[in-house]
Amino acid sequence: MSYVILDLEWNASYSKMLHKFVNEIIEFGAVKTDDEFNIIDTFSVMVVPKIGKRLSPKVKQLTKISYSELKANGIPFMEAVDRFTDFAVDSVIVTWSTSDVHALIENYSYYTNDFHLPFLSRYCNVQEFCEACLNINDSSSQLGLSVCAEMLNIEFEEDEQHRAFADAELSLKCLKKLSQKRSVSDFVYDASKEEFYKRMMFKNHFVTNIDSDDVDKSQMYFECLSCGRLTKRLTKWKVHNKAFTADFLCDNCAKKFLGRVTFKKKYDSVVVRKKLVEKRSEEDKAHNIKI
Ligand SMILES: [Zn+2]
Repeated sequence: MSYVILDLEWNASYSKMLHKFVNEIIEFGAVKTDDEFNIIDTFSVMVVPKIGKRLSPKVKQLTKISYSELKANGIPFMEAVDRFTDFAVDSVIVTWSTSDVHALIENYSYYTNDFHLPFLSRYCNVQEFCEACLNINDSSSQLGLSVCAEMLNIEFEEDEQHRAFADAELSLKCLKKLSQKRSVSDFVYDASKEEFYKRMMFKNHFVTNIDSDDVDKSQMYFECLSCGRLTKRLTKWKVHNKAFTADFLCDNCAKKFLGRVTFKKKYDSVVVRKKLVEKRSEEDKAHNIKI
């Protein structure tokens, strides 16, 4: 089994046709490896942007690529896809986070009206693999590639990163190092089915309709922060900043609290987060100010 670790650079280009910004791909960089992650081939092409006619300052600064360089050395996007498809044949496609796959789907469907990527039959998100190996379970933030490399004592030149090929190589180094800990094959998904694209295109979001089936009302309770007894809800649930909030009272302690519950809908789960804070009365506040 071979692996192709792919990284892309893209530019936010405004599409007059779609009336929105498109993450227009400007560079492909990839390394192909055997099943022990030894490099057997490499791939690097620049793509001439067609949707946008200039690069954003951020992209210029980050990649140090100029528009004239892309015009001189780049090839059209669909030609890059054809060449990459030949290069990647039968390999597991590996990217750092799914954002490169999102960009590929967006660009490919822009030109073909079809979002099924011709080179994608098996897929691995190396970021997900590294997070699992390093026991990083914080769903609120994502592990960055350079942070991961630092954690693994992998040396790299910050100057050379943010170019497709260098980032693909660095992703490979992280993958190779951690593959000694866990089997990568457990993180390889079948990408040939519609299910894969549904998952990829699903946007995580907070549920704000209290009558939704995704709102598990049995979770919407709080125990008193002082005595641990069940509190009583005093007000109706309100939606505030994508969270359900209400006032609560502990009869035992005569303390008031503000309760906050969020339901984050993911493709195959709903993540519930709860927070309770004590509400001090106006009298308490005034008293504190006096002191
Ligand atoms: Zn209490």
